[in-house]
Amino acid sequence: MDKKIAVIRGDGIGPEIVNEAIKVLDAVAEKYNHKFEYTDVDMGGCAIDKWGEPLPKEMLERCLASDSVLLGAVGGPKWDNVPGDKRPEKGLLALRGGMKLYSNNRPAKLWSQLAEASPLKPSIVEKGIDFIVVRELIGGVYFGEHTTVNKDGEETATDIMEYAEHEIERIGRIGFETAMKRRHKLTSVDKANVLDTSRLWRKVMHRLKDEYPEVEYSDMLVDNAAMQIVKDPSQFDVIVTENLFGDILSDEASMITGSIGMIPSSSLGDGGCGLYEPIHGSAPDIAGQNKANPIGTILSAAMMCRFSFDMPSEADAIENAVTKALDAGLRTGDIMQEGCTLVGCKEMGDAILSYLE
Ligand code: NAD
Repeated sequence: MDKKIAVIRGDGIGPEIVNEAIKVLDAVAEKYNHKFEYTDVDMGGCAIDKWGEPLPKEMLERCLASDSVLLGAVGGPKWDNVPGDKRPEKGLLALRGGMKLYSNNRPAKLWSQLAEASPLKPSIVEKGIDFIVVRELIGGVYFGEHTTVNKDGEETATDIMEYAEHEIERIGRIGFETAMKRRHKLTSVDKANVLDTSRLWRKVMHRLKDEYPEVEYSDMLVDNAAMQIVKDPSQFDVIVTENLFGDILSDEASMITGSIGMIPSSSLGDGGCGLYEPIHGSAPDIAGQNKANPIGTILSAAMMCRFSFDMPSEADAIENAVTKALDAGLRTGDIMQEGCTLVGCKEMGDAILSYLE
């Protein structure tokens, strides 16, 4: 199969971790007789430096012309003081909006080899952590109107949260479909005791659940969900929720697994083309030092094979190679444990490559 992959290396550790993922993708292409063709895309701080904006139109077009997009990370202190509409993160929002990616899928999986890294008690961890947060990505309060006005002599700010039925239904379906491919359990998270958007959310989800009788469905209020994720994460298989709640809960979910350097993510729309990226940022504190953990990016490449390219064996092969590297005791600094061998970003990539071959 021939696939075109747009590659956004971005800023900070972005170029280092993406290079390792591309090495792995190249090995997969060779082993399984595919041809992956890469197109470089400038986005984030590096695009601001080169083009004066975080995502020039031509760069977005390169992404839209590809079968999928692989992203490292963007941002860093160098661009902290540029005007709000020109910040590196604006490039990411423009890319998600431009590609119409309404579903962000983030697995929270604890690797048994790294169980000690979880901040949760062993009695909780040993029950297992393996769930996925499906977050609505281009609606809700982040995309509503934001205003700050002077009212009665003081500054008053308003952010509007809005959801239309079709926006809830399409993300709800992704939640049910994801549950169908896993352990058939879906928890829909909202704040229906307070918010109208949540009451509409719940109404649409209840309508959908009749179409998926095989899925064990439940509603949960967001404050309770935040507690349950640390109290007993083993109860979850798939969580589906709106943008703001999903932003917070997916960060909480990744934290309990130990290292943000390990976690991949995918963002999908209606077409097969998706955006695949590790969940962490550009880690400026370790950039250019060969210290970054490339596993989150390599696993993002595996997700790309599975979800956008329909290559499950290739995805399994990458994930198994990661497992073997961890089993061999290889660790980057962020996941280092006593008795293990400390390796750099490049060496971790090389090791995963060798287990793939
Ligand atoms: P961060 O995720 O970059 O770093 C937080 C901590 O985790 C740091 O100590 C870092 O060294 C460590 N870390 C992160 N990824 C790692 C990896 N792969 N291997 C080893 N250690 C790793 O978060 P931050 O410091 O809050 O943000 C830095 C910059 O990244 C900011 O400009 C922020 O806006 C941006 N950011 C970008 C994205 C994105 O591109 N999707 C996401 C979040 C933050």
